[in-house]
This record gives sequence, structure tokens and C-alpha cells, in this order.
Amino acid sequence: MSNILVLIDSCEADATETINELLTQGRNLANQVNGSLEAITFDPRHKELAGAWAEHGVNVIHYLTNSALHDYGPQAWAQGIVQIVSLVEPISVISCGSDRGHEVMANVAAILDAPFVSNCLSVTAGERWQASRLQWGGSLIEEVTVASTFPVLSFALHSCETTLSKISEPLKIISHEIELDTESAKTIVIERTEKPEGQSLETSAVVVAGGRGVGSADGFNVLETLAKLLNGKVGCSRAVTNNGWRSHTDQVGQTGKRIAPDLYIACGISGAIQHWVGAMASKNILAINTDPEANMVKKADYAVIANLHEIIPAVSDEIVRRNGQ
Ligand SMILES: Cc1cc2nc3c(=O)[nH]c(=O)nc-3n(C[C@H](O)[C@H](O)[C@H](O)COP(=O)(O)OP(=O)(O)OC[C@H]3O[C@@H](n4cnc5c(N)ncnc54)[C@H](O)[C@@H]3O)c2cc1C
Repeated sequence: MSNILVLIDSCEADATETINELLTQGRNLANQVNGSLEAITFDPRHKELAGAWAEHGVNVIHYLTNSALHDYGPQAWAQGIVQIVSLVEPISVISCGSDRGHEVMANVAAILDAPFVSNCLSVTAGERWQASRLQWGGSLIEEVTVASTFPVLSFALHSCETTLSKISEPLKIISHEIELDTESAKTIVIERTEKPEGQSLETSAVVVAGGRGVGSADGFNVLETLAKLLNGKVGCSRAVTNNGWRSHTDQVGQTGKRIAPDLYIACGISGAIQHWVGAMASKNILAINTDPEANMVKKADYAVIANLHEIIPAVSDEIVRRNGQ
């Protein structure tokens, strides 16, 4: 029988909806080849979660353990998955298109010397697999033909509506003690710290972001002041993180965060496509830039053509004055 093997990463926070979408895609693929959908999990809570996974079309759950593996480890997970691939002989291994899904699947594909097609929206199995997938941070849909009978796939987040597909046969759960070499056990999460309470860059209604035009790490002080007055957060472009002015966790864009605040204030940011894809869902964009021809100025709802170091302190002073502080 042709099987589809799916990695369920239920350890990530808020994973339920993403998992249900992935299982819907997996069940759809399994139906195309009259096969079964077999899941891999590293989650010790899998017995509690198994019922919900079965309702989304999972036939078999493989629970993988190793004494060295207490938490996430991309190479270790990949090595475990490859061991199950040799047992189950699936026609594809799939995961969700999260950072972790991509990291693990890239390792699986490298070990198996298989092609990895990431961020798929829909896939048709066959001698030559066909896929539609997101590219360029979602601004391009690419049609792909895969010259392999065994592709490794990830599905873009929110690529489909979830549907239930209850299976008539009883769900099987099989535990496997996997073997790990010292190389693959090198990158394993050993400790977690709690995220501080409160809003984040992704949830804040206002983001004041700075680019190379801010000029230095200290130059961000004026953005911090304005963000605080607006109860917002500070973001930045990659030019800024490349310069070491701010941490990568503040970066907006293709290789940073995708945000959708009510107000995005882009200060000294040119608006390169890789930045724009992270900010374009903002409801209102104000660009502050010395260059009237900058992309960000052209795309923004409002623009101020001026030196940010004059404008931002003036705006902050005015807010303070109006607040009567
Ligand atoms: C694969 C890949 C992934 C990438 N991912 C990302 C990503 O996730 N996020 C991201 O941001 N970039 C990303 N980039 C980089 C991106 O292409 C741009 O290089 C980057 O966004 C430019 O940053 P910037 O706008 O801050 O700098 P610049 O393009 O140098 O723009 C600086 C702007 O500041 C203005 N300025 C200068 N002085 C002032 C002043 N005093 N007051 C007001 N305005 C001023 C200038 O007019 C200019 O418009 C990626 C690139 C690649 C190849």
C-alpha cells in the first residue's frame, strides 16, 4: 500500500489548527493513492491527542523516543523520521510549513537525498508529482513538477480548510526507541524560558520600525520613546540586524516576522520586497523617509519626507504635550 508519512509537531504552542490543516492535506494525498496516513510524533501526550488526529484521517501513529531526546532537535527528529521511512516505505513525508517543519524536513530530504518542496498549497501525487506552492514570502504562486517519485513536502500555513475524515479501522499506536548518533543529538533544546507577559511584535496594534536610515543602535532611542507613548513595539529591517543594531527577534520581513498592526510607522526603511512582505498586512502605513522615491513612501498610506531624527522627537513631544504630561 502507498503510505503518506506526516510529522505532527504538537509541541509547538497553538498547534491544533495547524495540525488539523496539515492532516487534511495528508488525508487528501493518501486518498489520491488509496493509501494510509501514518503520523510521526515525539510528543509524550500523543495518547490524549490521538483521538483528534484519527478524526482527521490518521491510521497509524508512530511515537518516537530516545533517552537523549527530551525536547526539539532538528537533526535528531530527522534521523528518527528516516528510521520510520525505512520501516513504512511511504511515497512522501510531509510536515507543516512552520520554521520547525522546514528545519526538520530539510534535514530529512538531505539524509534521503530527496527533493524538498516547501510551502505547498496543493499537491497531486504521481510518477511526477505536481505542486502549487508559495514563493517569495507569499507574493508568488509557483507551479512545480517534481522529477522524483519520493518528494519531501511541507504545506504552507492555512493552505486549506480543515475537514474531518474518520477512518473505519481502529487507530494503531506504535512506540519506537530510535537510534541517534552523537552528531544528530548535537542540536537539542535543553532549556526553555517563559516568554514575558504582554504584547509582542506580532500582536502589537502599533509598530514603530526603523531601518538603515536610523543610523545606529543608539538612534533607536527615539523610536523606543515614540513606541512607548503609542503603547507599541519597535521593529526593524534586516539592514539593522545585519549591522548588529538590534536583535533578529525585532526583524520584520521575509526572514523576520510577518505582522499586521493597525499602524506601522516605517522610519528610514526603503521598502525592499523582502521587508514589504512582512509589513504589507498592516492596516495603515506611515513612512518617514528623506527619499520621496523610496518604495515604502510610494506604498504607504501616509508619508512624511523628512529626516526621521527631526520628525520622531517632534511627534513624541506633541503626544506628550497633548497628554498633558
Ligand atoms: C533572501 C533575502 C531575505 C531578506 N529578508 C529580509 C527581511 O526579512 N527583512 C528586511 O527588512 N530585509 C530583508 N532582506 C534585505 C532587503 O532586501 C533590504 O536590503 C533591506 O530591507 C534594506 O533595509 P533598509 O530599508 O533598512 O535599508 P536601505 O535599503 O538602505 O534603506 C534605508 C532608507 O533610509 C532612508 N533614510 C536614510 N537616512 C534617513 C533619515 N535620516 N531619515 C529618514 N529616512 C532616511 C533612505 O532614503 C532609504 O530609503 C532580505 C534580503 C534577501 C536577499
